[in-house]
Amino acid sequence: MDETQFKNLAQDAPFELSPVTPNMLDGEKVIQFRCHRDVGCWNACCANIDITLTPYDILRLKNRLELSSGDFLKQYTVPYEMDQDGMPGVKFRPVDGGTACQFMRPEGCGVYADRPTACRYYPIALLSMRNQEEFTDRAVYAMVPEKHCLGHNEPRSLSIDEYRKEQGVDIYDELGRGWRQLVLKRKSAGPGIGKPPAVSNQLFFMASYDIDRFRAFVSSEAFNRTYDIPMDVMAALLADDVTLLEFGYNFLKHTLFGEKFLVEQPGAYEARMERLKAKAEKLRDEYQANRDQLEEDKYGEPGRPGDLSCGSKDCV
Ligand code: SF4
Ligand code: SF4
Repeated sequence: MDETQFKNLAQDAPFELSPVTPNMLDGEKVIQFRCHRDVGCWNACCANIDITLTPYDILRLKNRLELSSGDFLKQYTVPYEMDQDGMPGVKFRPVDGGTACQFMRPEGCGVYADRPTACRYYPIALLSMRNQEEFTDRAVYAMVPEKHCLGHNEPRSLSIDEYRKEQGVDIYDELGRGWRQLVLKRKSAGPGIGKPPAVSNQLFFMASYDIDRFRAFVSSEAFNRTYDIPMDVMAALLADDVTLLEFGYNFLKHTLFGEKFLVEQPGAYEARMERLKAKAEKLRDEYQANRDQLEEDKYGEPGRPGDLSCGSKDCV
């Protein structure tokens, strides 16, 4: 969303119905809020969830739970589309048959030290904004004063920056920035460039959310036949999730937006062109064979003496 779109939205939308206050706030804005165990609405926010996860959220949670990224995604998330072109996103999957977070416990959050970005920010929303013609995002905030949340009545004032520090969001923002920029960039591309091929969305999903599968992809023979990755860089990618995550953002910029980041192996481009050419020739041959078959079915085998090749007895 760019600033103009946001302002139009703020002017036109019936915001009485929306919990998001249509004000862009900066980090110095002082808010009144406190959440604690004795508040009357304890756990109300976790009982009815709609939480989008960032790649770093998933990394923290799957490591805490000692699951592979694939198992974490299956058990704790549902996929959704972030735009009309099917840009893949993932949200928390609530408990079976309910709306509560699977990690909600009577005493509070069961994964508190590794809770996702959105849970840390609540009741503030982080809005990634971009100025037109710019692809770097700028963090601004909005309040989400939901009626059930009584924390807004608590007598404590602090700035948004102080609240962010208290909630430990800095590392989450830092390691989510590259991904948010990718999302903004794809949304900004608009319908003009057409719907991206399915393989783009598959790559986006794998590099963003399924980091263990992405690691296997990066260490595969096919990947290393294509890209020239120095040994020490490859060792760091295989050993460290965060390094791999940030590599993934740059890999996506390289493959989806043509931003030069990776060095290709000598001959990799030519080999890719050969493969594409062979594929195009195969498709062309299949198309021609299908056309020949259709014509044969319609008019009979061509060139045989006595064929009614123009469909008229006069042509015999
Ligand atoms: S992860 Fe924790 S804070 Fe976030 S919705 Fe679940 S229980 Fe609540
Ligand atoms: S609804 Fe608000 S005050 Fe109540 S537990 Fe959730 S964040 Fe805290």
